[in-house]
Amino acid sequence: MKSYRKELWFETKNRREFINITPKVKECLYESGIREGLLLCNAMHITASVFINDDESGLHHDFEVFLEKLAPEKPYSQYSHNGYEDNADAHLKRTIMGREVVVAITDSKLDLGPWEQIFYGEFDGKRRKRVLVKIIGA
Ligand code: ZN
Repeated sequence: MKSYRKELWFETKNRREFINITPKVKECLYESGIREGLLLCNAMHITASVFINDDESGLHHDFEVFLEKLAPEKPYSQYSHNGYEDNADAHLKRTIMGREVVVAITDSKLDLGPWEQIFYGEFDGKRRKRVLVKIIGA
């Protein structure tokens, strides 16, 4: 069995951003040389997500509105977590959008559905943060 590990780094300009990381994940798979197996991709921070969905700007705006309804950023004082930090909403948004994805590797390719793309979801950005890519297989 082969195993591969890589960290991808991100520093968003905004507090919240969605980045399509599918091309970077494909590069990892190519580098790994693995033809059949499983790929795990997870945010290494508790205020960021990795998730799979459509790369469509309207939907991304809908996610932003949906998440702001459930866990609005402001007022900061509404959260017990805030005080030392101001990112309680980011922790909650990350919990909704998830920590990681697992994708099957078939014939050296990401075995995704027709519209599935892999995203990094940043909810407390403007600093360097990491995503882990781990691939096992043969
Ligand atoms: Zn925090």
